[in-house]
Amino acid sequence: MKTKHPLPWQDTPAKSERIVSAITRIASVLRSGAWQFATAEGLNPTQVDILEALRSRREGVRLSLIARHLGVTAASASDSITSLTTKGLIEKGRDAADGRAVALRLTRSGQDLAARISNSVGFAHEAVSDLPQSTQEVLFESLLALIGKLQQSDRFPEIRACVTCKYFAVNRHPDSATPHHCTLVNAPLSVSQLRLDCPEHEQAQANVAVQNWRELESV
Ligand code: SF4
Repeated sequence: MKTKHPLPWQDTPAKSERIVSAITRIASVLRSGAWQFATAEGLNPTQVDILEALRSRREGVRLSLIARHLGVTAASASDSITSLTTKGLIEKGRDAADGRAVALRLTRSGQDLAARISNSVGFAHEAVSDLPQSTQEVLFESLLALIGKLQQSDRFPEIRACVTCKYFAVNRHPDSATPHHCTLVNAPLSVSQLRLDCPEHEQAQANVAVQNWRELESV
């Protein structure tokens, strides 16, 4: 008698589960690429994250902002920063906005090392670049929407994204291929042009940022 096999898709996890699994696996591959390099340089994962965060903030940032960016406590970030300072990769100076506050910056050696860490995941940039443009756009928009959902549930650290920026005008040009607008540079923006880490970013009021995320979902 023939054994009845279950249909192959009966045990398939829900789509949401498979999406999270895919993101987790990709993140894990990227992390291991960066950490392999970093371990050889005597750095731990938090130190790598700090170097990457400071790389695009040449003006210097306060310890509290770094801690928020990484989603760790100030004490935990402080230990890593002390170690990076001892290694000559970070220096402390005056904060441009408040002369009494301390700002952290990468030294020349820190900048060189942060650039090499970024290059260590170049294989991922190549893989994404090989995807068709339309796929890249859908992927970016989908990931942006997911970040928005996580931010609204306080599960994602602050980022310098257009959507949370006070210069961002959501859906200023409806029915256009470039529906959004940056009032700082007075330029229309398509969804795929939105930035996730803009040096000119200034935080919008919390209710405005939430409204922006919601409108973006509906565009
Ligand atoms: S200043 Fe930067 S983050 Fe803000 S809206 Fe313009 S491009 Fe986006």
